[in-house]
Amino acid sequence: MRVVDPASAKTLAEVAEADDRAVADGCERARLAQPAWASTPLPVRCEAVRRFRALVVERTEALARTLTQEVGKPITQSRSELAGLLGRIDFFLDEVEQAARDQVVLTSAADRLEERIRWEPLGVVANISAWNYPWYVGGNVFLPALLTGNAVLYKPSEYATLTGLAIADLLHESGVPRDVFQTFVGGGAVGAELLARPVDMVCFTGSHATGVRVAAAVAPRLVKVQLELGGKDPVYVCDDVDVAAAAASVADGAFYNTGQSCCAVERVYVHEDVWRPFLDAFVDVVRGYTVGDPLDERTYIGPLARREAALSLLADQVADATAHGGRVLLGGQRVPRPGFFFAPTVLVDVDQTMRAMREESFGPLIGLAPVASDDEAVASMGDTEYGLTASVYTADRDRAERLLARLNVGTAYWNCCDRVSPRLPWTGRGASGLGLTLGQEGVRTFLRPKAFHLRGI
Ligand code: NDP
Repeated sequence: MRVVDPASAKTLAEVAEADDRAVADGCERARLAQPAWASTPLPVRCEAVRRFRALVVERTEALARTLTQEVGKPITQSRSELAGLLGRIDFFLDEVEQAARDQVVLTSAADRLEERIRWEPLGVVANISAWNYPWYVGGNVFLPALLTGNAVLYKPSEYATLTGLAIADLLHESGVPRDVFQTFVGGGAVGAELLARPVDMVCFTGSHATGVRVAAAVAPRLVKVQLELGGKDPVYVCDDVDVAAAAASVADGAFYNTGQSCCAVERVYVHEDVWRPFLDAFVDVVRGYTVGDPLDERTYIGPLARREAALSLLADQVADATAHGGRVLLGGQRVPRPGFFFAPTVLVDVDQTMRAMREESFGPLIGLAPVASDDEAVASMGDTEYGLTASVYTADRDRAERLLARLNVGTAYWNCCDRVSPRLPWTGRGASGLGLTLGQEGVRTFLRPKAFHLRGI
């Protein structure tokens, strides 16, 4: 399989794809190795993850360059992802003891009865991951899964293969047995083969369409499934904001990681009283973004990891909008340079029927529309199959909380957006997914309870 640099369209490396036999053998080895890993004392498992953390710190620069070269993420953002991973590791290390501890829920001397919950690992977890934040979205699964005593079969996206291989090397060097964490290189077919093996849980991060296929593939075997899927995340800018500050924050939420974040801002509704000044400030911010070589420290917008597929989706959304009365204020086309670059694009005169306001863009493209009232904003924000995040910008916290309470989303933001915290559960509603990662529940999700009814005689 060729690993391609999206900034130049040149081949970076060639790697061997796992065949069906390798997936089947790997799965069997994981099954055999998992019980010993589960009975390894928790402090020993934690120590391995601490060593992994130390290696990430030691090799950050090389790992950031690998990520930037294969995914096109601007280098400063690759470094931020690796730095952000450390806080997540610390959170998992702090939480795992409590999550895995037995709970006695009743002790009755009169009945000589004890009721106790024991939390046991699930067994073998298949982790089919995305390329846009491989350290985050991968780490949200494989770190708590390993800490709680599971074996993990990791299928990186084919666009983040070298990072997936680096993750395996670091974990093995840190003391996680080779059979307990394995990486399988390849495209969707390798992921599908993994799902055909006898795994105990599937954690998938990716698009809604593939997520549905993943869930259907394992449904007859009733395998536990977690799906972290896409979004069409809206922001509402109220009439009482500091326009310049709100514009800078919302633009960053829309364009960070070149717009390729699951929780990137995808639609902006602005109260008509501040529409004009907000739009001017927003366009100024976006015009200031530097597009270019992702290895250059000054670059804010890099190439698109999914290459031609991503470029043609964005071009189609622009064409659909302009055909129906939309207007391009900035960008709207490819950047004429080698590689797969799309100019930061701002669309106005858009409505809810247009593809740019309905389908996930997953790139540097945003539509903005004025609204006359809070009720109209809530109706527009809620007009989507997705339910990942929603955000309200206002000076009035009560107003924000009232509006956010009316939206069917897993994450609600006041005066911020495109933000994930290890301490809070990360979960999508509707077409955005099933299950959760992060937070205390995101550690427990890799354990299952055994209920003990213990009566003395
Ligand atoms: P895809 O759905 O295209 O791919 C996701 C993963 O599934 C990849 O590893 C892919 O392999 C693999 N795959 C493809 N087909 C199959 C199959 N039939 N069976 C099993 N596995 C398969 O998504 P993207 O990689 O393009 O990721 C972008 C999407 O991910 C966006 O929608 C984004 O919103 C979402 N996302 C959601 C997050 C969240 O937390 N909610 C976080 C990050 C991203 P390959 O790439 O090799 O084809």
